[in-house]
Amino acid sequence: MSLQQALFYAEGLRFSCTRCSTCCRYESGYVFLTEHDTTRLLESLQIAHTGFVETYCRWVPDKWGTEQLTLKEKSNYDCIFWKNGCSVYEARPLQCRTFPFWHSIMVSAKAWDAAARDCPGMGKGTLHLLEEIMAYLEQQDAENLVTRISNREVM
Ligand code: SF4
Repeated sequence: MSLQQALFYAEGLRFSCTRCSTCCRYESGYVFLTEHDTTRLLESLQIAHTGFVETYCRWVPDKWGTEQLTLKEKSNYDCIFWKNGCSVYEARPLQCRTFPFWHSIMVSAKAWDAAARDCPGMGKGTLHLLEEIMAYLEQQDAENLVTRISNREVM
């Protein structure tokens, strides 16, 4: 059986975001930032790196003993950039722009179906072909997450 036959998304998958905001609000979660994400956001917000990290970010310990840069949440768990919708939509992080085509979701049809229970855009709308989905996954592998050891960034 070829890889293409084995993948449950070999014929592509349908997804169109309805902008319902369920994935940006209400529940705690992590939006990990890549180097490109920070560059795009700094440009969009016209802010310096230090101010950006202090105002919009937090460091989260990972299993390797380092810390990864993620977006802050508001006290109600809304994304720090949620203001009647995504206030940085054009510069939104890779994690947001590639949803739902994440490794953790594309691992199986079961994982896709489970994620789709919380996202009204999955399984409907635009057909995303295998090549496009693979490109999203490869892009996530290619971009380095912003990481630090002992308060020193090691991007
Ligand atoms: S839950 Fe799905 S449809 Fe709603 S905003 Fe997030 S990606 Fe879009």
